Amino acid sequence: MGEYTAAAVACFAFEQPEVVVDTNIRRVLVRVFDARPLAGKTYTAAQRRLAHDAFPDPNLDDGGVACAWNIASMELGSLVCTSKSPKCGICPVRDMCAWRAAGSPAPTEEQKTRGQAWHGTDRQVRGALMTLLRDASASGSI
Ligand code: SF4
Repeated sequence: MGEYTAAAVACFAFEQPEVVVDTNIRRVLVRVFDARPLAGKTYTAAQRRLAHDAFPDPNLDDGGVACAWNIASMELGSLVCTSKSPKCGICPVRDMCAWRAAGSPAPTEEQKTRGQAWHGTDRQVRGALMTLLRDASASGSI
């Protein structure tokens, strides 16, 4: 089961305060906080940190607010902050949106065609972990 599915089941079926991040939520987050027009093809480690930083404090909630946050963010990305035609005029977070404040610059060719650079990606982190595990295994530490 993938990260998204596991978090979605925990949150929506069991009201656990799990961070759920789909493509729509990633797009909203990078626009509001990073002033980027698109989130890219891959959920990066930097985006994961951003999603967790923006998430309601799980210690202050029994799950209801967290689940509402996930659903609201998803709907915002799906209905208002769409990929090609964001409706900034009716957006409830327009006053705090960094991309809008920057003049809603169009994506660069690189942002349109490339998902992301290698640095900061999940693949980079997975590779680093595998290297650590391989080295630890070879040295007899594990
Ligand atoms: S102001 Fe526009 S770009 Fe920013 S989050 Fe809202 S719809 Fe998206």
